[in-house]
Amino acid sequence: MTRRNSFSKPITNPSRVIRFFYDHPSSSRAQAARELGLTPAAVTIITSRLIKLGVLTESSEASASKNGRAVGLSVDATKYKVIGVKFARSRIELGVFDIGGNLQTHHVFPPAADTEATESLHAVREKVRALIAEDHSILSVGIAVPGPYLRNLGRLAIMTNMPAWRSINFKDEFETAFSVPTIIEQDARAGALAQSLFDPTSDSASLAYYILGEGIGVGIIENGVLINGQQGAATEIGHISIDVNGPTCECGNHGCLERYCSAISIHRTLVANYPHLVPNAAELTHSEAVTQLCALADNGNPEARGFVKEIGRYVGYGCVSIINAYNPHHIIMGDILAAGGQLLLDSVNAVVEERVLPDLRKSTTITLSQLPADPILSGAAAAAIDHLLRNPSEFGK
Ligand SMILES: [Zn+2]
Repeated sequence: MTRRNSFSKPITNPSRVIRFFYDHPSSSRAQAARELGLTPAAVTIITSRLIKLGVLTESSEASASKNGRAVGLSVDATKYKVIGVKFARSRIELGVFDIGGNLQTHHVFPPAADTEATESLHAVREKVRALIAEDHSILSVGIAVPGPYLRNLGRLAIMTNMPAWRSINFKDEFETAFSVPTIIEQDARAGALAQSLFDPTSDSASLAYYILGEGIGVGIIENGVLINGQQGAATEIGHISIDVNGPTCECGNHGCLERYCSAISIHRTLVANYPHLVPNAAELTHSEAVTQLCALADNGNPEARGFVKEIGRYVGYGCVSIINAYNPHHIIMGDILAAGGQLLLDSVNAVVEERVLPDLRKSTTITLSQLPADPILSGAAAAAIDHLLRNPSEFGK
């Protein structure tokens, strides 16, 4: 049996009401009715049930109340929890989050070699089962996996450097493994969900989460809905060619963006071309090597600054394609390369300034992620929370 993609389900009124209060805490029932085009009576019936379940709580007076007497409602973040699991090439992490997206406990699994994929999956399943057994307020599990992820089939199309993971079917391994619903999401899309749910400065209707980690990808939310593509593998910006004669990529294309600015590629270039910058770079993980490079740049090392600026230009070429292809209002960059900070951002913006039509450029904001936790781990949790918000009946089970 194939579970339908949660984003294709029709949006019910209870789900719209709960999302409204999630996005607009301390609003009144009247405000919700107006915004959603529902009758006040309908909103009252829905909110009464959600209050009974402990999902909504009556807070202070409504924030924009004119007469000062309306009661504000907010989602009670503390009563229910979800588990987020992040599969990255060299790291598997798990977090228990409240439904407000706040990380409660964090667990890092031992590093998994390519050959240990089956053992790693077993360890994750056992840990999740144990957590659910001891805490009945955990209502769903979200799993973030690297792209390209063939969502409909449940497996990764490629995983650079780690071919064994390609044969794993995440749907088979996880979708019915637990007593609560499990949502599997590609990492960049999970990050986009996290930005949309947890970062009040994001435009949740039109945003791109541009993941700059061991791989490069983007998750696009358009009109509040994620773009998936027919096989669920759309928006793989890391595999657009920025040099048609460039080096071959495992995907079959040449000169893919991620050959130039993923943490894996940067790490390789650092070891080969800048051996004196981070002397022990070869022994570090990709993340550690890139983080150290960015720290050197931050401390003013001219060579490191030059390298980070150059990386920023490649990231910028990706931004140009994101803007031309999807025209999002807000591009949020996150993951390992976010350590490049303002220096990286300035370099990205310079490329966008040079290469994007002025009308498009002016209407696009590019920022670094401000989420306190890892956006992909948060994203895994966001996929689980998004499922609950779209299916509020899960709260009553
Ligand atoms: Zn490629």
